[in-house]
Amino acid sequence: MANDDLRPSIGVLAEHFPGERRVALVPADVRRLGKSATITVERGAGAEAGFPDEAYIEAGATIAHRPSIVSSAGVVVGVRAPSDLASFHPGAVVVSLGGRDAGVARAVFARELKHLALERLPRTTRAQAMDVLSSQATIAGYAAVIEGARALDVLLPMLTTAAGVVKPARMIAVGAGVAGLQAIATARRLGAVAHGFDVREAAREQVESLGARFVSPGEALKAREAANGYAADQSADEQAALRRALAPTLAHMQLIVASAQIPGRPAPLLIDDETLAGLAPGTVIVDLAAESGGNTSRTEPGETVTIGGVKIVASVNLPSQMPADASRLFSGNIRALLEHLIPDETGLQLRPDDPIIAGLLGVDQTLRAAA
Ligand code: NAD
Repeated sequence: MANDDLRPSIGVLAEHFPGERRVALVPADVRRLGKSATITVERGAGAEAGFPDEAYIEAGATIAHRPSIVSSAGVVVGVRAPSDLASFHPGAVVVSLGGRDAGVARAVFARELKHLALERLPRTTRAQAMDVLSSQATIAGYAAVIEGARALDVLLPMLTTAAGVVKPARMIAVGAGVAGLQAIATARRLGAVAHGFDVREAAREQVESLGARFVSPGEALKAREAANGYAADQSADEQAALRRALAPTLAHMQLIVASAQIPGRPAPLLIDDETLAGLAPGTVIVDLAAESGGNTSRTEPGETVTIGGVKIVASVNLPSQMPADASRLFSGNIRALLEHLIPDETGLQLRPDDPIIAGLLGVDQTLRAAA
């Protein structure tokens, strides 16, 4: 059996951000990681997601208060970037989101921490199992359709009854990335007629493989796909042209799930006041891009607004509404990452020549300038 003193220590933090109910590691993954690390969990960390302290103790973890974890653990994991980085011990490795936050970057530099920021994970096949953006976008795409279905005043499926026939609802995912594709798949399961719109030509095949119709932005408007697999940034003129190309299609839709994003930039404005005026009353838009500015001109993060009979639902942090499965998937990603960092009993390895580590540690130049 491994000598406890030689195993790296991992601390799992409770989340204190308002509305955040997920936990970064669930007991099943604590058990698996326990072979190569000692794990301490902040008291109550999994409570909101349905994982009580007792389940962590059974899985082999120790429960402790936050100060003792942040002052001693070699690797500290959380969902969001901790707001108390200034009390971490210098040199600690922090694994969490927050890689696009200048305040986090400042605290990391000031304390000489190593922040493995999960947004910076390279989108390579090898890193796929560690990709929390994908796993959480999958949950958000599903949850968006459930929210949209509740807000609609029509049913999604076709029903043939003695009282008459209900037509299936028409749904579109604007932005057919991970969240949009899951929204299409969920809407199809619920019986809607689904469509997908994206600037990346690669999305066409993915939309069609789900049995949905791809709405093309048109040859002249197709954005280049950046080398990292994301959509390339678009000029204001290109976005205006996309809005005009999309508006006639949106006028026929009943449920619109908007999730168009460009990493590190404000979300593209795809539904402006002019487009909104052309939508049929009763149309529901669920805007998953609300936290980065929104895909509509009237998105109010955290609110539902109704304009001319069109509802714009802009829930934030949808994965936290389904915290058990959201945490299980997040935790599966973190376990895969920690197994990569701690491959054997020789302990934690942060090899700068490893593209996954280099990507996670790399600091965005604009953030460096701001720090
Ligand atoms: P994202 O959340 O950054 O963006 C969501 C979608 O919005 C993207 O499909 C993007 O093309 C689209 N978009 C941007 N501007 C738009 C506009 N003006 N109009 C319409 N659509 C617009 O991206 P994401 O969902 O995290 O990932 C995008 C793609 O990357 C995925 O579909 C997948 O193919 C790929 N991916 C690869 C890996 C991997 O290989 N490890 C992992 C995850 C995702």
